[in-house]
Amino acid sequence: MSETRDLVIIGSGPAGLTAALYAARASLTPLLIEGADAGGQLMLTTMVENYPGYRDGIMGPDLIAALREQAQRFGTEIVTGHVTRVDLQTRPFTIVTADDEYSARALIIATGASAKLLGLPEERALMGHGVSTCATCDGYFFRDRPIAIVGGGDSAMEEAIFLTKFASHVTVVHRRDSLRASKIMQDKAKANAKISFAWNSEIAEVHDVEKGVVTSVTLRQLQTGERSTLAVDGLFVAIGHTPNTSLFGGQLDADANGYLATTQGTRTNVPGVFACGDVQDHVYRQAITAAGSGCMAAIDAERYVESLHHPAGAA
Ligand code: NAP
Repeated sequence: MSETRDLVIIGSGPAGLTAALYAARASLTPLLIEGADAGGQLMLTTMVENYPGYRDGIMGPDLIAALREQAQRFGTEIVTGHVTRVDLQTRPFTIVTADDEYSARALIIATGASAKLLGLPEERALMGHGVSTCATCDGYFFRDRPIAIVGGGDSAMEEAIFLTKFASHVTVVHRRDSLRASKIMQDKAKANAKISFAWNSEIAEVHDVEKGVVTSVTLRQLQTGERSTLAVDGLFVAIGHTPNTSLFGGQLDADANGYLATTQGTRTNVPGVFACGDVQDHVYRQAITAAGSGCMAAIDAERYVESLHHPAGAA
């Protein structure tokens, strides 16, 4: 194990990188651990038009690259590693990755959230073979081919619209008769001639596991129970996210859906452990709110570390 650091940050989306930027500028020389999916959900996004300061928008991966370089410029050390265990019961805290072990006085958790799946066995079997959770990554493979997308939120609408650049047709399969997405996204999707909607419907089956590719889906109309076949070459799942908190089970308070509980800014129930971004926010979930809470976490961590080094002057 290397020497004890003032601050370790787990997670490299806008929350973790902004926390790193602020902590580095506060001379905490933070170590940021990024996982295999470095950059988080923005890496799976195309044009981000609502991040303030970018009048004409910016591509998600470009925004992450800029945040990363900005954090490094002020002294953030970034390592790649899959965190397998954390010990928050003893001090300093221990963070174990597949290859290393780190020790920290303060910890910022910015592990974000991951795409939810429908839970069908075929969905997993055909993942990467026609089933996808990332339109940006996989849309290109469906040029002039029909596809379906499940979900009624902003993600589903955004991805459906994006996928019309490639696909011959996009069917949005939604379990209700009204969308959850914002009005502007609904209007854009409904006005797109390449998009149609299967309302009050769910995906009952995905075919064809034996062939190893998606050839069709069986739709079930939820009011009548009627089943029908929709010929598609691809199925995109855009039904929301689950917070990446399994590492902290039993050590940190979380809500019923697993989102980390924070009070007084970004404090968790363990002093010295702070949480920011989508791992603790199931309400706003925007890049800018994640970045804002990353800034808050860094300031909270800085004050906490300061209180350890200078207990008498602590607030
Ligand atoms: P979301 O808002 O939670 O929507 C998830 C959708 O999936 C809902 O329509 C939900 O149906 C459906 N769903 C959930 N579980 C399902 C299941 N098991 N089977 C079938 N359908 C299921 O998630 P999101 O679209 O990923 O958006 C998350 C947040 O990010 C939101 O706050 C959103 O505004 C924001 N966002 C913003 C932008 C943007 O501004 N450009 C882009 C993407 C996301 P019900 O409606 O029936 O619950």
